[in-house]
Amino acid sequence: MSIIESKTNSRMHLSFVNSYFYRRCTKCETFRKTKKEMKQLSLLLLCAVLFSCNTKAQQKEAKVFPVNKTEAEWKAELTEMQYYVLREAGTERPFTSNFNDFKGEGVFHCAACNTPLFKTEHKFDSGTGWPSFDRAIEGNVEYDTDYNLGYARTEEHCATCGGHLGHVFNDGPKKTTGKRHCINGAALTFIGETK
Ligand SMILES: [Zn+2]
Repeated sequence: MSIIESKTNSRMHLSFVNSYFYRRCTKCETFRKTKKEMKQLSLLLLCAVLFSCNTKAQQKEAKVFPVNKTEAEWKAELTEMQYYVLREAGTERPFTSNFNDFKGEGVFHCAACNTPLFKTEHKFDSGTGWPSFDRAIEGNVEYDTDYNLGYARTEEHCATCGGHLGHVFNDGPKKTTGKRHCINGAALTFIGETK
């Protein structure tokens, strides 16, 4: 019985029992049936929402990057720290990367797939203990949102292999972009400029 039908039917009956959750016709229990139907509908909707969230999560996991390797292959190619940062979205301890104070002219590449990601000319001393840049090489990085610390942060990863690089914050140099790309040195390799 549809909700509209049951409402129409209920008008024909005069005796109702009121309850906290519903009004029930004592003759045909129309409202009780309607409530049951609504409950079933709610359950169906809940299932649909859960299913769609699940599908979304699966889609995210299933994203295939141009450079796509198995975790076993990455593990064999990368050092333990590189694998922890790039493939497990780990964070190196601050002030541990040789790139933190590094000022050589050139380009920082992804340690996993060699895609050029940052230029020294955009590097600045943030004092945080992690190599920091005010911008990335456009198109070579992608962004996501993570809640690993309980609040939303802009996660940054390599657009070619999906390797995690670090996070982007809005407290960078105001004179340029205002952004601070806080990058794990372990995710990078450096190729100097030849003049
Ligand atoms: Zn990469």
